[in-house]
Formats: sequence, C-alpha cells, structure tokens
Amino acid sequence: MTPDFIGNWVRTCYSADITPAMDGKEVTLFGWVKEIRDLGGIRFIILQDREGTIQITVPRKKVSAEVLSKSNSLQKRYSVGVKGVVKKTDMSPRGVEVIPNEIKVLNTAAAQLPIDITGKTPANIEARLDARALDLCQEQSIAVFKIQHVALDAIRSFLFERGFLEVHTPRIIASATEGGAALFTVDYFGEKAYLAQSPQLYKEQLVMSLEKVFEVGPFFRAEASHTRRHLSEFISVDIEQAFADAEDVMALLEQVIQHACKTVKEKCTKELTILKHKVEVPEVPFKRLTYDSVLDDLKKEGVEVPWGEDIPTEAFRTLGKLHPYFYFITDWPTESKAFYIKPRDDKPELCEGFDLMWRWIEIVSGGTRIAEKDLLIRRLKEKGLNPESFKHHLQAFDYGMPPHAGWAIGLERLTMILTGRRNIREVTLYPRDRTRLTP
Ligand code: ATP
Repeated sequence: MTPDFIGNWVRTCYSADITPAMDGKEVTLFGWVKEIRDLGGIRFIILQDREGTIQITVPRKKVSAEVLSKSNSLQKRYSVGVKGVVKKTDMSPRGVEVIPNEIKVLNTAAAQLPIDITGKTPANIEARLDARALDLCQEQSIAVFKIQHVALDAIRSFLFERGFLEVHTPRIIASATEGGAALFTVDYFGEKAYLAQSPQLYKEQLVMSLEKVFEVGPFFRAEASHTRRHLSEFISVDIEQAFADAEDVMALLEQVIQHACKTVKEKCTKELTILKHKVEVPEVPFKRLTYDSVLDDLKKEGVEVPWGEDIPTEAFRTLGKLHPYFYFITDWPTESKAFYIKPRDDKPELCEGFDLMWRWIEIVSGGTRIAEKDLLIRRLKEKGLNPESFKHHLQAFDYGMPPHAGWAIGLERLTMILTGRRNIREVTLYPRDRTRLTP
C-alpha cells in the first residue's frame, strides 16, 4: 500500500482537546490506530495521539466510498490523518466522536505486533524493553515520561528563580571522581579515559566563578549489581552552591522536592489516573535522623549495622517501614562518605554529608564540601587515592575556593516515586544495565 502524502494538512488539535462543546466543528487530527471495532453498519476507530484517544466513527452508509475504503484498510498502529466533524454523543466514553470526511494513511505497520499496545495483555518488562519504541506508545509509558517532564520542568524553574545557572560539564574525563571501580573506560585517541560518574569536581570548581550552578544530565556507573534501582546510565540533577553549607542546601532540596510533588499533583491528574497512582505533597521540613539514631532504631528491630559502615539494603528496607515517606539521614561517619565531604569541625569522625531517603530508597545524596586544600589532600590519601591524579582539581583550591555545598538527585528514582513504578527501567526511555545495551 502506498502511503498518502501529508500535503498541506495541519493538526488543529489533539484528541484530548476535543469536547462536546465543539459539536459541529471541523477538526484535523493526526495519530495512530489503537483499536478497531466493527459493529455491522458502523466501524469505530480509536485514534491515539500523545495526549490521549478519540473515537472516529465511520457510519458505512453515510461516508464517501473513499473514506469507507480507507477505513477498511486500517490496522493497528497505522499512522493516520483524519479530517472530520465533531459530534456530541452519549455512545462514546468521552461524550464525543469524530465523523470523518477524509482519511489519509500516512504509514502502515506490521500485522503482528510484539506486545499488546492496548495494555489488555500486559507484557513482562524484558519483552517490553525489547520492543521499547512500541512499548513507549502505550498510554502508561507516555504518562510516566510526561510526569518526568513536568517534575523536571518544575525543578528547573525553581532553581532558575533562585538564581542558579544551568551548566554542562564534561562526560569524558581523565580520572575517577569518586575513586572506586564503577567506571567505564573509553579509548580516547589511544589514551585511557573514563565516562563521568558525576559532575562533582567540575561543579565544585564552578562555584568559584558562577557561584550557584545546576546540571541535568546522564552519568555512568559500571554497576555490577542488577537491582530495580540501579542503571549503568542515569540522569542526575546536581546543584552546587557557594557560601552555603549542608543545612542551606537541605532546606533548598526539601522545597525542590515539595514543589515537584505539588506541580505533578496539580498538572498531571490525567497521567496519575492512567497510572492509578496518587502523589502526596510532603510537608517541610522533612524528618532529620542522624546516622547514630538510625543504627539505634535498627538495633531495636533486630538489625545490627556495625558503626562506620554504609547501611545495607536489607537494613534500609526495615528503616523504610519505620519511616514511610521522605526523611534525611545526617551525621554520617566521615569514613563512609566520599573524600570531598567535609568532616564536622567539632567531631571529625562524623561528617556534614546527608542522604535524602524515600522509604527504603536513597534518592539524593549531598553535603558540605571540603574547601581547604590541605584537608582535601589528606582525605584523598586516607581514601587510598593519589592526589597527583587530582592535581587539576586541587589547583582550583589555590584561587579562593569559597565554602560550598550541594546535592544530586537521581531523576529516575524521583520519577519512580512520582509514578509509583517499582522498576527503574520502566521510568527510563532506553535503560542501560549490565545485561542490556540495546535497543
Ligand atoms: P546507591 O547507594 O543507591 O547505589 P550512591 O550512593 O552510589 O547510590 P550517589 O553517588 O550518592 O549514589 O548519587 C546520588 C544519587 O544519584 C543517588 O541518590 C541516586 O538517586 C542516583 N544514583 C546513583 N547511582 C545510580 C545508579 N546506578 N542508577 C540510578 N540512579 C543512581
């Protein structure tokens, strides 16, 4: 079948814009065939676009031979244009239908689709990801990414209004930011380079000039473990602020999170209904628990964590039951955090790092950073890292590095919370993990 040309057709509205009040109006729609139902003399075509669906009703005896033949040729996922007249009706779920005057078939689709796009027969996540381009056409998938878009837009505007500048730091780097093994190597013109794990060192350097910066972008971790909350490539929403400490950026963070939840709740009612999910707007300030108090609480629940160590996942699950919403964990042992987190002046064995938790999942990590060069070098050595590898970063500390603090939100983890999805892969367009590099 030769596709029709789009010609001079211009969309007048999306499916969701059509209301009974538009009765009698002519509209031009573009989209895809989601479902076809035949009822003897009438054919119903459910047309789907980004914003929803609309019923196209073809009364066989009343439409032209051309429209009839076009409508008979349609199959699921055909890409079409429809010019028609809006009709108020009690017979369709939305109270409206469109009677077509002209149909253009802009492209065809395979007769056998790998997954059911109506969502009636849910496919498992691997089958969905294998057919991701098609899977993303499902209304639940569209709802997830619209919510993510609205949340990120809310966060960006919030930060712009407070004077943060958006920056872009390198993804190809010469040495590891945080140390550790979770790095991908890159052959950089014959030299060994790495994919950045975070913008940490660059954003710290930028507070000397731009003072308040943020960055949204992909970062890379060669995660060996296969969990429902880790990806090899994830989107981080990072901020760094000069003349600020952990308390300042925690206050900013809780407002950012509250604002994102509020905006999604207000603007995404349709999407949340599709996902059968509710978003609660959290009250601020969030609960603040110290690392020591967390260990005590866990002990009472029969879970022992040796002091100084990171809290294992199973212990976090217990903690999540005790604190079923957002909460901070503060006053971590200095040893458990990265080298650039500032030890407390009064108790250097504890540091000014914090994590923001949602139930049992860490969604943000941040803290006051070390601004003093000698201390930074000492911490690098204590972490078994070679200061020589960090010489370009360290030189910034000779030029008036101000006290500063910042944090990083994992955008996918935030999206999981806002959409009620339990697997991070569902909220990632094309997830990358240990076993998946395609599509
Ligand atoms: P975790 O302990 O959960 O592995 P992390 O301590 O390594 O996380 P950070 O380096 O502190 O994480 O990164 C800040 C935030 O970025 C995390 O709170 C999380 O939301 C997100 N993040 C980090 N690593 C990943 C990953 N591999 N996949 C998805 N999100 C991640």
